[in-house]
Amino acid sequence: MKKDIIIAIDGHSSTGKSTLAKEIAKALNYIYIDTGAMYRAVAYYALQNNLISDQHFDKAQLIKDLDQIHIDFKYNKDKGFAEVYLNGQNIEKEIRQMTVSNFVSEIAAVPEVREKLVAQQRKIGQSKGIVMDGRDIGSVVFPEAELKVFMTASPEVRAKRRFLELLDQNEDVSYKAVLENVQKRDKIDSERSTSPLIKTEDAIIIDNSNLTRIQQFEKLLNLAKKKLKS
Ligand code: C5P
Repeated sequence: MKKDIIIAIDGHSSTGKSTLAKEIAKALNYIYIDTGAMYRAVAYYALQNNLISDQHFDKAQLIKDLDQIHIDFKYNKDKGFAEVYLNGQNIEKEIRQMTVSNFVSEIAAVPEVREKLVAQQRKIGQSKGIVMDGRDIGSVVFPEAELKVFMTASPEVRAKRRFLELLDQNEDVSYKAVLENVQKRDKIDSERSTSPLIKTEDAIIIDNSNLTRIQQFEKLLNLAKKKLKS
């Protein structure tokens, strides 16, 4: 009998983790969970409620409000993946904007926020058959995951990809601002004290600076098939 596995995809910002994770989940008929979207949802809540800006961050109030922050995923058949909802509102589009990207790593460094979201992620992954992407999936959320991948690429390649994506969404943003954001998020994510972004010893590195989407997909699918056979 085929046994389902957990595939953990971690890595630097804008490495195309979610695109790859979605494609692999579809190929294996697995559930895909974008944990970055969950941290983005909390950042969106904080921005909407004036808890964070360039000048201030009311961390204490955010922690108090955590009980009122409900994040869900609902499968969108047309799009072929689960979209994120905050307190019943679909915020899939809003959370991709630069304003959210600019504050999300500060929000994700708060231990209480991580504790809440990690508990929810573990619950979702209980039944296996899941592809989850983020920063701490292989190290903290599912250290027992059967397949762990660490994705990276040069900051310039990543910023260029993200910049083109944002232009496509008609966002008024410069390449320089996107590059700075990618570098700032890498730094905060790697240096925070709670669950920093690390490559675990058992994770397989995929540097996709010079790989096409199809090459990455085939590489990961082969790794998954090997694990499923073993
Ligand atoms: O994956 P994405 O770039 O959308 O994630 C947004 C931010 O959320 C990251 O820059 C990081 O600060 C945070 N994050 C995290 N742990 C995860 C997923 C995302 O800290 N598992």
